[in-house]
Amino acid sequence: MTAAQADVTWERVADVVVLGYGGAGACAAIAAHDAGVKVLLIEKAPFGGGNTACALGPMRLPGDVAGAVKYYQALSFGTVADEDLIWALAEALHDLPGKLDALGVPLKLVSKGSAMFPTLPGAEALDHWMAGTGNKVFEILAQNVEKRGIPVLYGTRARKLVQDPATKAVLGVVIEKDGKEEAIRANRGVILSTGGYENDPQLQGYYNFPGVRLYPFGTPYNTGDGVRMAAAVGADPWHFVNVAFMGLSFKGPADQYGCAFPFQKTRGGFIFVNKTGRRFMNEAKRLTFRKEPLEVTYFDHEAACYPNLPCYLIFDETQRLKGPLYRMTGGMVGYASIRGFDDWSEDNSAEIAKGWIIKANTLEELAARTGIDPTGLKQSVGQNNKDHSAQADDAFGRPADSRRLIVTPPYYAAEFCLSIVNTQGGPRHNRFAQTLDTEGNIIPRLYTPGELGSFFGHLYQGGSNLPEALAFGRIAGECAAKEKPW
Ligand SMILES: Cc1cc2nc3c(=O)[nH]c(=O)nc-3n(C[C@H](O)[C@H](O)[C@H](O)COP(=O)(O)OP(=O)(O)OC[C@H]3O[C@@H](n4cnc5c(N)ncnc54)[C@H](O)[C@@H]3O)c2cc1C
Repeated sequence: MTAAQADVTWERVADVVVLGYGGAGACAAIAAHDAGVKVLLIEKAPFGGGNTACALGPMRLPGDVAGAVKYYQALSFGTVADEDLIWALAEALHDLPGKLDALGVPLKLVSKGSAMFPTLPGAEALDHWMAGTGNKVFEILAQNVEKRGIPVLYGTRARKLVQDPATKAVLGVVIEKDGKEEAIRANRGVILSTGGYENDPQLQGYYNFPGVRLYPFGTPYNTGDGVRMAAAVGADPWHFVNVAFMGLSFKGPADQYGCAFPFQKTRGGFIFVNKTGRRFMNEAKRLTFRKEPLEVTYFDHEAACYPNLPCYLIFDETQRLKGPLYRMTGGMVGYASIRGFDDWSEDNSAEIAKGWIIKANTLEELAARTGIDPTGLKQSVGQNNKDHSAQADDAFGRPADSRRLIVTPPYYAAEFCLSIVNTQGGPRHNRFAQTLDTEGNIIPRLYTPGELGSFFGHLYQGGSNLPEALAFGRIAGECAAKEKPW
């Protein structure tokens, strides 16, 4: 018996312990159970679902595996050297409709050849599939978990992995529930499927934008716990550079509810300005998944600041009366919608009353109330109105037909922040979802499927994370169930 085994008092035991009950965790638990072993699911939130339940739902899956391998290789820009893993991803995503169908999740082919980057090799190999929203998919997976009698401990946070110091094998996990810690022995393996660090300012600062708070469009419970637990057992960190932006979000409700309220309008009588009152981007541009340097995250080295954060949505009375400024479009949901936080008044008056939108009779008064430079603000609004009258695209490339006049008092400003869909960083894994250390060795009995250490290291193909989580969750569950009990 090694030191680690001797030191721990195990208060519970299972063959496979799954940490995090999102899509990857659900599929892992189902697969391990169906392989005939005893499974225990641990979930930090009072409910399951994670980012999986927030997903819009489209999936991009390979019709042709060999073509998809070329495409995934091209997307990675060298961030994935393991060819076996690339093949495994393409094969697992190709097989996903059949596997999900067996669980009662019917996937439908929407269209052939629908990749996001058609100029990359192999792009024609990907097809567009749909199984309903992520919430619907998770609901069916949860029914499968329930039907099998797999126990779930909700409101329980995985704290640290128990590792044998000699063999490096992961033997179990320490969890925290109601302020009390207990150790759970995993006879065969631990599946760490705790998602990303969408709601962890510290990791976002270390890896992405120091000093910028990124608000999660998905679950606020993904706070990078898995990143830290995996690091503590020697896992190799990868793909942290890749975060998927959602766009600009109202900051007032984001602060209140801890999740993003993205602004989705691309046309109307509004502009975005920074503290100097100046516009800095084309308001009609979608930021989701973009990889080029963005105006909003531009850092001014001389001034030692991000000049475009915070920024503000500026509009007038005509725009206010045109309808709610926050409303998800195109079937998008997000955490605020699925938890029912997204009630927004038709004329935006409730949000003015809550202080999320500031009202003033003149632009000068609006500037004084928000701290925006008044000269810059008046110039920007004036220029918007001139550009509108000239019916020309403006200096930032905003199309003429997307602009309206901002001339009718009172005037309004809403502070904006930056929101993200999800992060891809986490521990590196192989084709069996086994976690690798910095030498490329397998950390025995530890598996990391899902967006915690996702495949996508640079370009992200929309509609891939959800199927990746479901497919690698299943692979992890099947493989962990085959480990010999220790
Ligand atoms: C708004 C939104 C829309 C999206 N739309 C799409 C889409 O249309 N198509 C697509 O392919 N992808 C989409 N994605 C991405 C995709 O949904 C996710 O990447 C994927 O579902 C992640 O699955 P997961 O199981 O790895 O993580 P999650 O589903 O996030 O599950 C992680 C779980 O771990 C729990 N947890 C965290 N820490 C701990 C801890 N210490 N102990 C125990 N439990 C813990 C969390 O509470 C959570 O329940 C979207 C993401 C978001 C946020």
